[in-house]
Amino acid sequence: MLQTVPAFDRLGEENAFAVLARATALAQRGRDIVNLGIGQPDFSTPAHIVEAAIKALRDGHHGYTPANGLLATREAVVRRTLMMTGVEVSPEAVMIMPGGKPTMFATILMFGEAGTEILYPDPGFPIYRSMIEFTGATPVPVPMREANGFAFSAEETLSLITPKTRLLILNSPANPTGGVTPRAEIEKLVKGLEAHPHVAILSDEIYDAMTYDGETHCSLLQFPQVRERLVVLNGWSKTWAMTGWRMGWSIWPNTPASGHLLDKVRKLAINCWSCVNTPSQYAGIAAIDGPQDEVEKMMRAFDNRRKVVVEGLNDLPGVSCITPKGAFYAFPNVGETGWKAKKLASALLEESGVALIGGPDFGILGEGYLRLSYANSEENILRALERMKKFLETGR
Ligand code: PLP
Repeated sequence: MLQTVPAFDRLGEENAFAVLARATALAQRGRDIVNLGIGQPDFSTPAHIVEAAIKALRDGHHGYTPANGLLATREAVVRRTLMMTGVEVSPEAVMIMPGGKPTMFATILMFGEAGTEILYPDPGFPIYRSMIEFTGATPVPVPMREANGFAFSAEETLSLITPKTRLLILNSPANPTGGVTPRAEIEKLVKGLEAHPHVAILSDEIYDAMTYDGETHCSLLQFPQVRERLVVLNGWSKTWAMTGWRMGWSIWPNTPASGHLLDKVRKLAINCWSCVNTPSQYAGIAAIDGPQDEVEKMMRAFDNRRKVVVEGLNDLPGVSCITPKGAFYAFPNVGETGWKAKKLASALLEESGVALIGGPDFGILGEGYLRLSYANSEENILRALERMKKFLETGR
């Protein structure tokens, strides 16, 4: 029998993929399934972006690019960052990555080892904890509380820092809750972090363009006092409906005080994936510089569905749902239904044909909640809500 190193036995998964597989299997057997489980926009990538990739292939861009990405793609990221945050970063600070996840992986790998602690949001994106455990570091959950709009509390976050803390992972707007951490709270957090210069920050800002009700995203880049210990994760997957293109970017410090993080991630890229696929990098430029009307249309649709989903959920017996301010997820409280969240999620799929995810798949504090992705048509969302209502009223 082969024996791998123990770290691999500690790797977790994203249950969203297991739910998708089960939903697909049921659909193949003829069941009518409404899928509110998957975390990707149900829109196609805008045509001009697809054309840019095709043109790149036709123009003969078939070879490697530099490991940190094409200069033109990094310059596009610089323009986009300036537009979103008002902060001008150097193209030398930008790394083009094969999606958002590899930035998470690289950063956690740089800071996690046995005997250290990493703070991460709970409920939160499941890969944070999985990767922390892979490195042998101790995962320290930072509670995202419903009463606090599923936002970070600066006070509670700072109270969890110890001399062993190496990294703090932030995510706003957040998966799975749609929570957005207000600027004032981030300001407080940054101020408090001044007393803990040994803590690096990974700010996952992949949903930065997805906020509602006039809410604006506050980027950690806007705080120069933490720039030397800050990695910002972002990417094309969500904003431009490009999950399958595997295109992300991140912004890294590279000073001696920062430990030359950028050099380290660039070397990791050379060792692992060489560079992101070249035509996608051309498509990434078109996404940032091209017309944004499709993106705006998508956001209007998400906003309408968000209202439909929240209203419908609050109409279900035993269910209450706060209005999410970002991303495209609702995180209803199902504690009063008498069901354990994972059992309810599974029963809704098997009995009612509604695919969604149980809150515990996103952390210890996810018990009592479900995650619904509203990346599906309004018509399907209404069908799902109707089925959920029937199930909760009649048990079938
Ligand atoms: N960060 C968060 C919070 C996410 O929800 C996701 C995807 O669901 C990612 C990162 C990963 O994005 P990508 O598909 O680009 O790797």
